[in-house]
Amino acid sequence: MALIVKKFGGTSVKDAERIKHVAKIITDDYKKGNDVVVIVSAQGDTTDDLIDKAAELSQDPSAREMDMLLSAGEQISCSLLAIAISQMGYNAVSLLGWQAGFKTDSNYGSARIKKLEAERVKAELSKNNIVVIAGFQGINKYDDITTLGRGGSDTSAVAVAAVLKADLCQIYTDVDGVYTADPRKVKNAKKIKEIAYSEMLELATLGAQVLNNRSVEMASKYGVELEVLSSIEDKPGTIVKEKVNMEKILVRGVACDKNVARFSIIGLQDTPGIAFKVFNELAKQKVNVDIILQSVGRDGTKDISFTVPKDQEKTARKAIEELKGHLQFKTFETDDSVAKLSIVGAGMETHHGVAAKMFEALYDANINIQMISTSEIRVSVLIALSDTDRAFNAVHDAFFEK
Ligand code: ADP
Ligand code: ASP
Ligand code: MG
Repeated sequence: MALIVKKFGGTSVKDAERIKHVAKIITDDYKKGNDVVVIVSAQGDTTDDLIDKAAELSQDPSAREMDMLLSAGEQISCSLLAIAISQMGYNAVSLLGWQAGFKTDSNYGSARIKKLEAERVKAELSKNNIVVIAGFQGINKYDDITTLGRGGSDTSAVAVAAVLKADLCQIYTDVDGVYTADPRKVKNAKKIKEIAYSEMLELATLGAQVLNNRSVEMASKYGVELEVLSSIEDKPGTIVKEKVNMEKILVRGVACDKNVARFSIIGLQDTPGIAFKVFNELAKQKVNVDIILQSVGRDGTKDISFTVPKDQEKTARKAIEELKGHLQFKTFETDDSVAKLSIVGAGMETHHGVAAKMFEALYDANINIQMISTSEIRVSVLIALSDTDRAFNAVHDAFFEK
């Protein structure tokens, strides 16, 4: 007998038919004598629809109220799934995040799990219940509902698997595994059998939304092995774990992120401390800066360009306006018609020419590179948004099509 944690994403429970199918997957494992804990996302586009509803009433709704609102999506799906399981003749109980013991910080909209007090979940399991938990949500020290950020149900699942020391943590979704690139965007994308946490974390952070990056970070920290698999077709998925066979594999995957905006501050003084002042102000406003480029100083001035997530553009703009008071510069410009394309692979650390091969593929496709950044296991380029699909396919095929 094993303890199995299963997470189902929004598409997997989008209507009654899909819920019944998911209930069957769950009960098939339960029937074999396993304990089963399920984490579920809101149905289909529910979360987006709730965001739209708030936008009809306010341009700037409070983050606390947004979390209260968005958590409703998962309340619906977890109760419906428990109802479907009961209808099949099995014991099931649904629990909201707070009932399942998810204690978070108070960073509404992007809360982090501080502790998971799983006594209630354990008690329900000992009563032979299938436990269905609303993903993506918790409670803070003020007893307010919080949410974990978009895609956060993955993290809920990994947290439960870590605390309960589950034997298996399965992330069911609408594709049958992790691919070398988003299979909906890249024609020749190939399914990956096994991928290391470090590579999956980079891919997820750089735009492969198949797993939420915080969930991978947590899985790595607690050694929770994950399987990403289809909720529609019954076949093996992709295993995400610590060590995988890296032989001959330089690049594990390609990711693309359209949630990017570029900022350029032009004509800054070329003196010590300028970069500190710029990025310190952005850090104070909690803006996540990614690619940074500083020009060589000329005639006493220099330019600094950087990218931020598009949804933080407003905050970043405010931070730069703020700087105007105590920092001289000519002007600043922003461009949100850009995308970030990245190649990721732990093997590239020890090999030459990987970046050059990526640039060659872009050159062959006549795609201009606006910015470049590298780390041991990734190379990212900033390109025009309109070039995204072509670039994604060209770079992917350069590495994965013989
Ligand atoms: P869920 O609702 O189940 O959490 P998501 O929409 O969050 O599902 O994630 C699944 C989607 O991730 C897929 O439909 C696919 O388009 C996208 N995706 C992006 N990159 C990849 C990749 N490298 N491998 C597989 N899927 C990917
Ligand atoms: N329902 C939330 C979202 O759409 C959380 C999740 O699906 O993981 O982002
Ligand atoms: Mg998701």
